[in-house]
Amino acid sequence: MSKDSRQNEDGLFPRQVVPVLIPMPAERAYSYALPQGTDAAPGQIVQVPLGPRLVPGVVWDGSADVISPGKLREVVQVFDCPPIVEPMRRFIDWVSAYTLSPPGLVARMALRVPAAFDPEPMIDALRLTDARPERLTSARQRVLAQADNGLAWTRSGLAHAAGVTPSVIDGLQAQGVFEPVRLPPPPVVATPDPDHQPALLETSQAEAADALRQTVAGGGFSATLLDGVTGSGKTEVYFEAIAETLRQGRQVLILLPEISLTSAFLDRFHARFGARPAEWHSEMAPRTREKVWRQTTEAQVRVVAGARSALFLPFADLGLIIVDEEHDPAYKQEDRVFYNARDMAVVRARLADIPVVLASATPSIESRVNAAQGRYRHLVLSGRYADAGLPDLKLVDLRRHAPARGGFLSPLLLKAMAATLERKEQSLLFLNRRGYAPLTLCRVCGHRFECPDCSSWLVEHRFRGQLQCHHCGHNEPVPQACPSCGTLDHLTACGPGIERIAEEADKHFPDARVIVLSSDMAGGTRRLRIELEAIARGEADIVIGTQLVAKGHNFPLMTLVGVVDADLGLSNGDPRAAERTYQLLSQVTGRAGRSGRKSLGLIQTYQPQHPVMQALASGDPEAFYERETDERSRAVLPPFGRLASVIISAATRPEAEGHARGIRAAAPSLPGIMVLGPAEAPLALIRGRYRFRLLVHGERGRDMQGFIRQMLGQGPKPRGSVQVQVDIDPQSFL
Ligand code: ADP
Ligand code: ZN
Repeated sequence: MSKDSRQNEDGLFPRQVVPVLIPMPAERAYSYALPQGTDAAPGQIVQVPLGPRLVPGVVWDGSADVISPGKLREVVQVFDCPPIVEPMRRFIDWVSAYTLSPPGLVARMALRVPAAFDPEPMIDALRLTDARPERLTSARQRVLAQADNGLAWTRSGLAHAAGVTPSVIDGLQAQGVFEPVRLPPPPVVATPDPDHQPALLETSQAEAADALRQTVAGGGFSATLLDGVTGSGKTEVYFEAIAETLRQGRQVLILLPEISLTSAFLDRFHARFGARPAEWHSEMAPRTREKVWRQTTEAQVRVVAGARSALFLPFADLGLIIVDEEHDPAYKQEDRVFYNARDMAVVRARLADIPVVLASATPSIESRVNAAQGRYRHLVLSGRYADAGLPDLKLVDLRRHAPARGGFLSPLLLKAMAATLERKEQSLLFLNRRGYAPLTLCRVCGHRFECPDCSSWLVEHRFRGQLQCHHCGHNEPVPQACPSCGTLDHLTACGPGIERIAEEADKHFPDARVIVLSSDMAGGTRRLRIELEAIARGEADIVIGTQLVAKGHNFPLMTLVGVVDADLGLSNGDPRAAERTYQLLSQVTGRAGRSGRKSLGLIQTYQPQHPVMQALASGDPEAFYERETDERSRAVLPPFGRLASVIISAATRPEAEGHARGIRAAAPSLPGIMVLGPAEAPLALIRGRYRFRLLVHGERGRDMQGFIRQMLGQGPKPRGSVQVQVDIDPQSFL
């Protein structure tokens, strides 16, 4: 900050000029003058004029750019709001530099809730004075008895508690029996108590919990991989690290991959700590959002459980970060600022000098390698809690056990479902495909229904009578006649989606209660939570779902999991395809047998010899992980090497391709880094935009960001409809 203590010739102090970072795609902080007599340290949230508008911003660090006095404008308001603390400011700078996103755009994620920059209004209340009323009615007596404890009451709250009308209170106040006071707004969640209801931990759990407790007590940065099969008690273990952090009076952030998951999680947290954590995700009511944001900056909220965006909440005194299901692809954001919340959580912990715990039953190769190389501590829980067995996993070779014509469930799976129904237990059929059928074609002319704006087939949703694009949401009614040849009633659905599996299950088990779950269900998250709770209570016999049901839920009666198509997702050209398939199928089969009943997982596949299938069936993933890790190492892929995508899109194909070639030609020549492409993206057209991709591949330790910055800096500037998007450490290759 440029602060000049010398007076100028007129005997006036010059105005202080500060850099202000504005939450928009600005490459740097802008200079503003502070009005005479005001002070605003770095981190302070202010309001500044920008063109004709007033916008919020944060006073940033360093010195402000010198600009001509005529152009210098003044800060309009310094908000009465706790400042964005130093480690958080460094985090914003770090994420900006790493993801090659403008710092203002990163800051925007921390300043999402402008309505919370002003303090919450105080609440009008009343407190008893020493004065007493002239005449004591029984109503007045009741009021005095209620209010006698020295606490302040709201007018209506006291009237209600004393069973009188508010006018009785007004009468007393008029006589000076009550004086008005103002109370701070109530907390959005109660304060969790670290010693409310600790679990009795088993030996291996207790050891892991002790290790974490000591890590927290010792302070400083550390990263721990908490690795244990589904149901081993990882949550119970990291709760102890949370308890220790709370005892120190600091705040905790718990990242969870799926909102629908949080409902059961919040209840468990409540049981352990006597209060719920605050939630943070995209579906919160605006008022709650404001309160949580504000009270997190004030350190009144002690624990936040949230989706990836919670990583950008400006905590006042963050002491611990937990990343649950750390391998989950949902941690990757692919919009505006492309970041992986799992990786950035480790960075945030390092900058704040606090511990981070990554928990998973199926850790990512990246985290396993980090643990093996000693960068992360590795804590392992090897068995399920209370000796509950893991499900017995069997492969069903679809070449030998083919489903009946027109069906997708093999006789083996149907038989197991019948037996499960017989025992009054639950079955889960897993298929990672929404809708009824992924492709519709005309049996006469072969016409296929395709999205007009994307390179993808339209998915039939039979419940809604629609053909839908899963990339842009385009939808149209299913027609009677083929739009190409005009033939009536000859359209045919190819392949299964969950709706079609539900139809098949209904046909075989007409009396069973079937629930179909997917992310696009009518009623949204609320409805989903209700359905999940109903399943947990045993109010369904057969559950059919997408990956949404794979994660974290505890269904005590579920003893059979059938994977309808285990091969789906193995051949999509993604270097992590095998790893992802293993993780997803372990998670989903891990839904079975969590309460100790004997359980079975049946995995339908055409490739029973595939290493993923072998890893699942053997129950020993080590060989598989080793092989995958070796392959990655040999190909110098993450975490042994580095990748970045540069995606160029435009309204026309030649524009996109031409621009991509231009950027490619500007690539500097540096040892250890090379550029592949441009190649048309596998999803060549999305929402009417044509897409080309450059893949930058570097050895570990190379300056990928510097390379890309130079390439984009020297290449053609985007013009017309052209857009360029950088994705460091890409997870999706579509
Ligand atoms: P994970 O997170 O590893 O999947 P959880 O922490 O969810 O495992 O534990 C699985 C189930 O076992 C939960 O219902 C949990 O309440 C129970 N559980 C685990 N450890 C204990 C314990 N020490 N005492 C009581 N219940 C436990
Ligand atoms: Zn589309």
